[in-house]
Amino acid sequence: MGVDEKAVEQVREFALQEKHHGEVTEAIINKYAPKENDNNSNKPVYVCKVCGFEYVGDLDKEPDDYKCPICAMPKTAFEKKIL
Ligand SMILES: [Zn+2]
Repeated sequence: MGVDEKAVEQVREFALQEKHHGEVTEAIINKYAPKENDNNSNKPVYVCKVCGFEYVGDLDKEPDDYKCPICAMPKTAFEKKIL
């Protein structure tokens, strides 16, 4: 055999580890990314005009004294974002 079998074996093992790593990464992405996408496609987004904070969801459901968590501006400082 002209091929260095040990080197081939190492490459194969490395490839398997990489494949496993890819599967783990994909599982993590599937766990978090789809939810994120659902939120963005189904829920409205409000942007604070002062600091740019993005509130995802229905801002109308927040109490009237809701304040931006970043700059403490009232709800009136938020503008609905057109997606
Ligand atoms: Zn703000």
